Amino acid sequence: MAMGEADLNKERLELALEAAGLDLWENDLITGNVTRKATKTFEELGFTEDEIVSGVQDIYGLFHPDDIDTVRRAVADHLTGVTPQYRCEFRLRSKSGEWIWFANYGRIMDGHSETPGKRLIGVTFNIHDRKCRETEIAQINQQLTEQNRLLQQLNATLERLAANDSLTGLSNRRTLMELGAKEAKRTERFGHPMSLLVADIDLFKSVNDMYGHLAGDRVICAVAQVCAARKRSGVDIVARFGGEEFVIVLPETDGPSALQVAESLRREVETLLVCVGDEGQEVAVTVSIGVATLHQGSGMSFEELVNRADQALYQAKGTGRNAVYCADMPPAEGGVVEQVPLDLGGGGSQP
Ligand code: GH3
Ligand code: MG
Ligand code: MG
Repeated sequence: MAMGEADLNKERLELALEAAGLDLWENDLITGNVTRKATKTFEELGFTEDEIVSGVQDIYGLFHPDDIDTVRRAVADHLTGVTPQYRCEFRLRSKSGEWIWFANYGRIMDGHSETPGKRLIGVTFNIHDRKCRETEIAQINQQLTEQNRLLQQLNATLERLAANDSLTGLSNRRTLMELGAKEAKRTERFGHPMSLLVADIDLFKSVNDMYGHLAGDRVICAVAQVCAARKRSGVDIVARFGGEEFVIVLPETDGPSALQVAESLRREVETLLVCVGDEGQEVAVTVSIGVATLHQGSGMSFEELVNRADQALYQAKGTGRNAVYCADMPPAEGGVVEQVPLDLGGGGSQP
């Protein structure tokens, strides 16, 4: 009866192992002998019965060199009691030289009266399909990460292109209007005045006519650089407003200070010599600048402020160019704002 039960249990175990695709093996830890061979695994690897490896050393010979340390560590960790089970995943070389993924799950079983000593019993099973899918997914994920990175780079470039003028790199008109409107709101909220300069290159058409459009572009870039150099980083906005027209927004800046900036800018451009040809031809240009200031409670929008500065610029052109003109002077009696030309002599203007 007892034997019958043992046979039944053996049959049950065989069925369970077969259904689960498990290959049972057993090592005697005292003698180092393999007491049950992992035959199914070796069959799967394409070896014949005769070729089936029996000793642990030979099995190690089939491990992928990149996995062998992991396997050794997993065994050692279990044998020294670090881990409650021996688990690891590894590749074995098939007879035809392919690497096939397998997993081991095992545990030390205490010996009993019939088989004294300690035995390491475990199962080996094929996890190749799962590993291939995992590798595929990891590759796809890596590709996605790389594509995402490229997309982010592209987006940043697009954003920059959309926000900046391609010739000068300054903010473009759209950015100016957006940021400027925000600054105007800040003035309204916090009560600090903000000023705005519109600078236009004088008689620029003649530069194009005399030296060509490319030379004209160089001049535009040179003046743009002079404007940009005045920028207080993180504070001012310097934009190309149109062809040869620039706008500088000076937050937290009152009229007199803005006039000083404008005048200093006018003088600097006046001294500028732009190399426009291979033969070292140099072009000198001047700018006329209109200045307007926004105060809290004025009810003026940013767009209106730009228009006011533009009108002042028109006045500056009227004085004979290379001039600064201010739209905002202290309100006269009755609240009328006068526009006062600022005569500097030598074509320039000053508050
Ligand atoms: P003013 O002193 O009254 O401003 O005279 P101006 O000649 O500068 O003014 P006008 O508006 O008559 O001419 C501006 C010229 O700027 C006309 C246009 O061909 C030229 N322009 C506009 N954009 C560009 C550009 O990107 N590159 C070049 N080279 N020229 C440009
Ligand atoms: Mg001009
Ligand atoms: Mg113009």
